[in-house]
Amino acid sequence: MDTQLLSGLNTAQRAAVTSKATVLQVLAPPGSGKTKTLTCRVANLIANEGLNPQNVICCTFTIKASREMRERLRDLIGCELEAKLVLGTFHSICRRYLVAYGHLIGIPKGFGIADSSDSLSIIKRIVKRLKLSIEPKAARGKISSHKAKGKKLEALPKTPQKQVERQEFITVFHEYEAALATSKLLDYDDLLLRCVDLLRAFPGCVSNVEALLIDEFQDTNVVQFELMKQLATAARRVTVVGDPDQSIYGFRAAEIENLRRMKAFYPETVVINLEENYRSSSSLLKLAQDVIEQDTDRPQKRLKATHCNGTPPVLRRLPNPNEEALWIASEIKRMATMTGDLLLYWDFAILLRSAYLSLLIERALSNSGIPYRMVGGQRFFDRVEIRIIIDYLRTISHPDNNQALVSIINVPSRKIGETTLAEFMKIGEQRKISLWAVVQRVLVGDIKAEKTSKHAEQEIGRLVALIKNARQKMESMMPATVPSKLIDLVIKSLDLEDYIKKKYKDDHEDRLENIKELITHASEVLLQPSEETLAQVDGVEQQVSDGGQEVLAQFLANIVLSTDTDKSEEGNDQPRVTISTIHSAKGLEWPVVFIPAVYEGSIPHSRAEDNDEERRLLYVAMTRAQALLTLSFPLTQSRDQGDSMLTQFLPPQIHHHLAETGPMFSDKVVRDIASILRRATPSQEALVKGLQSLKANESQSDDVWPTDGSRRAVAMFPSGAQTTTPEFGRPLAEAVAM
Ligand code: ATP
Ligand code: MG
Repeated sequence: MDTQLLSGLNTAQRAAVTSKATVLQVLAPPGSGKTKTLTCRVANLIANEGLNPQNVICCTFTIKASREMRERLRDLIGCELEAKLVLGTFHSICRRYLVAYGHLIGIPKGFGIADSSDSLSIIKRIVKRLKLSIEPKAARGKISSHKAKGKKLEALPKTPQKQVERQEFITVFHEYEAALATSKLLDYDDLLLRCVDLLRAFPGCVSNVEALLIDEFQDTNVVQFELMKQLATAARRVTVVGDPDQSIYGFRAAEIENLRRMKAFYPETVVINLEENYRSSSSLLKLAQDVIEQDTDRPQKRLKATHCNGTPPVLRRLPNPNEEALWIASEIKRMATMTGDLLLYWDFAILLRSAYLSLLIERALSNSGIPYRMVGGQRFFDRVEIRIIIDYLRTISHPDNNQALVSIINVPSRKIGETTLAEFMKIGEQRKISLWAVVQRVLVGDIKAEKTSKHAEQEIGRLVALIKNARQKMESMMPATVPSKLIDLVIKSLDLEDYIKKKYKDDHEDRLENIKELITHASEVLLQPSEETLAQVDGVEQQVSDGGQEVLAQFLANIVLSTDTDKSEEGNDQPRVTISTIHSAKGLEWPVVFIPAVYEGSIPHSRAEDNDEERRLLYVAMTRAQALLTLSFPLTQSRDQGDSMLTQFLPPQIHHHLAETGPMFSDKVVRDIASILRRATPSQEALVKGLQSLKANESQSDDVWPTDGSRRAVAMFPSGAQTTTPEFGRPLAEAVAM
C-alpha cells in the first residue's frame, strides 16, 4: 500500500479514502477536506486497489475544479494514470459518451453545443417570427428548468387557467427543439438528458465502469441523479461527497433530496462524517456557524476548528456603495503594499451576491491600480473580440450550427442585409435544413433566393470559401495544433486586427491583448492531457472520431462548458484579486475575503424565492475565508439606519464586530499573517521546511500547523491577534505558545 498517499489525512478522512464500502456518502461541512478526500480516494482506488483509471469516472462541479483535481492526481499517481481517468463535469463527461456512442440513439456525428446565449437567440428569433408575447429569457429559463427536471416536451403540465401562456410556451419549446435539431445542436440540458437516454438504451456503453465519484453532490439535479444510477449500473460502486448546508443551486433545480434518495436507492450506503475544519480560523467558523444554525430544521452538526481563534471577522458600515467599494480597494492596497510580496493580490477575494454589484468594485480596483479578475460575470470567452473568433471556429467545426453562422455572417461587415438573412432562414425552416445547407444550394443555383442581391451572394460565396478552406486545411494539420492554427488563419483571412483597431478606437489595445491571450490558451490547452477516448467496451461500437476535428470540437466544448472560469487566470502571469459571485466561489478558499453589500434585499435577494437557500449562500461565502473576513454594507441601502438589522441572517452578536473607522485589521495583524503565509515556491519541500523551521522557532503546536504541503493548507493565524470569542475554539494563548 502506498502510505504516502494517506499521509496528511486525519483518521476520518483516511477511513473515507480507504473504506471498502461500495456506496459511500461523505457528508461534511465546508473546509473539512471533502474534495481532498475524494481526490485521495480516486488515487487510492487506482494506486492501491488496482482499478484501471479508464474505468473510473469522477465528476466535479466546474471545469476549473476538474483541472485542479487533475493537477493533484498527477502528483499522487503520476500523469500517465491521471490522463486516462474519465474526469470532468457531468456535462463534459456526457459529451464524451455522446461523441463515442451518440450514433446509437441517432445523434448526428459532430454535433455542436448551444450555449445559453445561443439558446436565447434561437428563442428570440422564434418569438419574433411567430409574434408571440412570451418573454424570451423567461422562456429559456422555463425550458431549461423543465429539462433539468428530466421532463420531455410531452410531459408538460396542464394548467388550464393560463391557457395562452401555456400554449405559447409549448409552441416555443417545440420550435426551439426543432431549431436545435436543424442546427445539429444539443443544449446544456440535452447533453445530460440524451446521455441518460443513451445509457438506458445501451447500458453496455458503461459496462466497464468500476467506480463513480462525485464532488458537490448536494447540488446535483434530478437528471444528474439519474445519470449517477446509469453510470454506476455495472459496478454499483459510488462515492459522493457533499454538504447539505452548502446547497445553493436550488434555483436551477438542484435537489438536496438527492442525498436521501441515494440512500433509498442504494440501501447499502455507508455515511462517513468529517468534522474538523482545516480552512478557517475558529472565530470565522463560529460566526458562519451562527448564521447557518438559524435554520432550525437542519440537523445540528458538530464542527471542530483545527485552528486557533485567529482574528475575529469585522463588520463595516460605509456611507454609500461607492464609498464601500473605495474602502475595499484601499484596504486591499494597504494590506498588499505593507506586506511586500508575502500577501499577494491573489490572496484576496471579494464575493458578491449578484454580479451587477461588481461595477463599482471593478472601477475602484482599476482606479487604485489593483489587478483583478472577475469570475462568474462576463466570461473571457464572451468578450466581443473573442466571441467573433470562437464563432468562426464553431462554424468551421460544425457549419450546420445556424447560431454560429448567423453571428459571423456580417462580422466583419459584408453588407448582407436582414432581408437576405430572413429569406435564407425561412427557406431553411421550410425545408428543415440548416442555413449552411441553404447557402450552398443558393450558390450552386439549386435554390432561388429572390430577395438576395448579387453583391450579397458574392460575399456569402467568399465566406463559404473561407470556411471550406479552413476545414480542408485542418485535415492536414497536426491534431494538437488545430485550434491555434485555425485561430491564426481566421485572424489573417479577416484582417481582424485592422477591423478591431478601426471599430474599437478607444480600447483596441486591450482587445488585441485578449486575442493574444486566446492564442496562447489555444496552444497551451492541448499540452494538458487531452481527454482520451473512452475505454473500448466489448460489443458496443464506438464512433471513430477524426483527429483534428475532434481536437477542435473538444477545445470548443471546453469553452462552451466552462461557465464560470475566467480564462485569464490560467496564464497566471500576474497575481490578481478575485471578484466572484458567491455561486462561483463554491469549493474555493482565500486568506482574505470581503463580502460587501450585506443587507436586506441584497442577501437575501429581494427576488429570492427561498430564504433558506439565501442563508446558505451567505454561509458558503463566509466559509471561503481562511484568515480575515470582512462583511460590509452601505448605509444608504440598509433599511434600518441603526445597528439592528442589516440582514435577517446575521446574528445580533455581529454588532460586536462593528468597526466604524480606521483600518479594520491592524498593521501588526496583517504583517503577522503575511509572514506566516509562506508561498509554495517551486519546491514543496522548501515549503514544508519553511513551515517546520517556523514551528521550531515559534513552537507552534501541531494542529495549528497543518503540514499538508499545499500552500493553501497553511493556516494563517497571527500570534498577535485578539480573541474576542474565547469561548470558541482554543484560546489563542493556548494554541500559540509565544
Ligand atoms: P468545501 O465544502 O468548501 O468544498 P471541502 O470540504 O471540500 O470544502 P477541501 O477544499 O478539500 O474542503 O479542504 C479545505 C482545505 O483544508 C484545503 O486547503 C485542504 O488542503 C485542507 N485540508 C483538508 N484536510 C486536511 C488535513 N487533514 N490536513 C491539513 N490540511 C487539510
Ligand atoms: Mg470541496
